[in-house]
Amino acid sequence: MIPHPALTGADPELAALVGAEERRQFDTMKLIASENYVSAAVLEAAGTVLTNKYSEGYPGKRYYEGQQVIDQVETLAIERAKSVFGVEHANVQPYSGSPANLAVYLAFAKPGDTVLGLGLPMGGHLTHGWPVSATGAWFNAVHYGVGRETGRVDLDEVRDLARRHRPKLIFCGGTAVPRTVDFPAFAEIAREVGAVLVADVAHIAGLIAGGAHPSPVGHADVITTTTHKTLRGPRGAMILTSAEHAKAVDKAVFPGLQGGPHNSTTAGIAVALREASTPEFRTYAQGVVANAQALGAALASRGFDLVSGGTDNHLLLVDLTSKDIAGKPAAKALDRAGIELNFNTVPYDTRKPFDPSGLRIGTAAITTRGLGTQHMEGLAGWIDDALSAARKDDEAALDGIAGEVRSLLAGFPMPGLGELPA
Ligand SMILES: *Cc1c(COP(=O)(O)O)cnc(C)c1O
Repeated sequence: MIPHPALTGADPELAALVGAEERRQFDTMKLIASENYVSAAVLEAAGTVLTNKYSEGYPGKRYYEGQQVIDQVETLAIERAKSVFGVEHANVQPYSGSPANLAVYLAFAKPGDTVLGLGLPMGGHLTHGWPVSATGAWFNAVHYGVGRETGRVDLDEVRDLARRHRPKLIFCGGTAVPRTVDFPAFAEIAREVGAVLVADVAHIAGLIAGGAHPSPVGHADVITTTTHKTLRGPRGAMILTSAEHAKAVDKAVFPGLQGGPHNSTTAGIAVALREASTPEFRTYAQGVVANAQALGAALASRGFDLVSGGTDNHLLLVDLTSKDIAGKPAAKALDRAGIELNFNTVPYDTRKPFDPSGLRIGTAAITTRGLGTQHMEGLAGWIDDALSAARKDDEAALDGIAGEVRSLLAGFPMPGLGELPA
């Protein structure tokens, strides 16, 4: 464990929980596609006295005094975001990905307007107008899907829906999309119908920064992203635009939607963006994709059905229908086997959303941990074996796999934590 002396002294109960989570993360194969391990530097930056400061407004235009340092911190984060992604304007204040998307609605649409996005069961995000989200309640949302056979976004359907419904906003990107997002094609459709194109790159921002996925810059009018998925920063978000949309976006974030920004998070984002601009990060981004493709191939050779047949990015969507187990019991068994992921709907799922047919797997975190393509065959074997054990309710076999996972991971220090004693 890393020492937390002040916390341990002041609140041993909470300190013990932090220690337990450190241990759990160290011992577990983290395949949750939206998660990662931040560096020790990001962790330190995000845990500073910057959290004590209120700074409503933007650098140079604040509503509280004492911004001599905070203005420089936020400016650093903004300038690094602009440089990493090659954009004219960056807002680094959204509290997370969902508020960032809500700010985009506020900036470019009115309640009741029509918006077009990828449906949730097809891999889209709640905030792309799904009914249970505020965005679905307040806007007239229309959804496109993926082809039943191809598992890929059907751009002809997108064009047809756009022509028919004339949406104000079109969202591209999603939360369970294993294939490259065709930003130029979406831009052409948006231009034809006069819609604002929003590229939500929450999952793939790190791949874009590292050159492992095409960039939406020059195609999308607005880009939203979280900072904590493949980008490997603290939990937060950014909105990236051309200078033309800067004012509308900034006004929507503050005062439209939020109060004071979380300055300690902004500091962590600045550090993560500096890391994302290095040659090492480019190597990391390529490694994430190579691992996902290797794991996909290893799973496919064991008879697993991959939605779209494979992946172009960090993410695999597995349809377990042919494996005679549903997603939820599979995910529970894998968790017991030390392999952490989430159950997920697959396109055209015949099961219910809380008990769907699929698993979502991502390689962003294990690549950070140092695992390479040579480890993916073994990992696929553990996944396959754990599902066989689950079908037989063989808990001892699951515990055995967890032990093997633990001993492999013991050789891979966890960023921010270093080596834990066995
Ligand atoms: C994760 C994600 C979000 C939302 O991020 P939160 O930080 O969880 O609010 C938005 N859009 C997409 C596509 C995502 O994957």
